[in-house]
Amino acid sequence: MEKQNSQLVVSVTNRATLEQTWFNEVRTRKPQTFKTASAGIADPTDGGKRCDFCAWQMLTAEDAWGRVERPHAVTGSNLFKYGEPAHGLVLFKHHEPLAFTPEQLADFLSVSAGWFAAASAAHPDARHPFFIWNCGPRAGASQYHGHGQLMLTNVAVPAQALLTQQAALHAATHSGTSLYHDLVRAHAAVGLARVVRRGEDRCWLVAHLAPQKDMEVLLLGPGLTSPAFQASLHAVLRAMIDRLGVETFNCGALNVPLADDREVHFSAANGLAAADANSVDGVAHGNGGADGVANGGAAFEVLAGSGDDLGLPASGAGWRPMMARVVSRGKLASPASDFGCLEVVGHASIGHTDPFVLIRAIDEQLAAALGA
Ligand SMILES: [Zn+2]
Repeated sequence: MEKQNSQLVVSVTNRATLEQTWFNEVRTRKPQTFKTASAGIADPTDGGKRCDFCAWQMLTAEDAWGRVERPHAVTGSNLFKYGEPAHGLVLFKHHEPLAFTPEQLADFLSVSAGWFAAASAAHPDARHPFFIWNCGPRAGASQYHGHGQLMLTNVAVPAQALLTQQAALHAATHSGTSLYHDLVRAHAAVGLARVVRRGEDRCWLVAHLAPQKDMEVLLLGPGLTSPAFQASLHAVLRAMIDRLGVETFNCGALNVPLADDREVHFSAANGLAAADANSVDGVAHGNGGADGVANGGAAFEVLAGSGDDLGLPASGAGWRPMMARVVSRGKLASPASDFGCLEVVGHASIGHTDPFVLIRAIDEQLAAALGA
């Protein structure tokens, strides 16, 4: 037989951010089947019996302002700080890192928002928040127990500085729109964008065409306490874990709003004032999750569309949504890292899972979870 060595490679470059991914159609035909070769993340704590974070009251430190606590999550101070002047922890109160309900995730995000508010009040000169959630050692987590890190720093991390710079450049060269607006519209044009909304509270999500890592989803919402953002993030992560077999992931958020600069960030965006007002205090309104369905309130609505019908702000200028990025970190059983020279030096990436496979899994999850 003649050897078949002809393959279709699609290279996608975001012209605004220069993010770049190379998809090989042969590799992307199927999502990776992580679980078949995996025994799961190794738990060195004997199911939580020797887990520092299960015993958080005794074995984790408090910040100078105390803890922010809700029924399913609590914050603490990070004993091994690198973020200056404030570097905290956010812990689920339950042990298993891949098992979390909408209510547990809503509390996890809401106490994080409360921590940022407290840290900001204690360090008014530090203006750069960064939310980090590594799940599994392949993703950088040092503890099995589900937890994230919260940083408020004097200097922005490079990704935040670049995003701010790129957004300013895009707005200056494209009157009346914004980087975020065009990001959603470009994905909507090919069927890869959705909006989850309840009234004026909205979260847009896209299966990224130029992902830095596998199964990348970008979520654009008002903030960590937005019920639409919380429900969207839960649906995305559950789709990845339950439908696509992901066992290790990163989730981080840039443009995290601080209480006293929300007005500046959101006042120019038509239609977002109500959502902003609901999330100003960070904690008190953070129990939304999927309660719109569970508690008989107004249900979330999920829309797909080609752009104009996605309920984006009438003018993109001045719109600075919080932007969360979620990625799979590959196979637990694989001894090879998913970060090589292409990523570390070239800042490019190989696409594994077809974004259209990813958005279908998210659609199924949204339909099952939100009835949308
Ligand atoms: Zn634990």
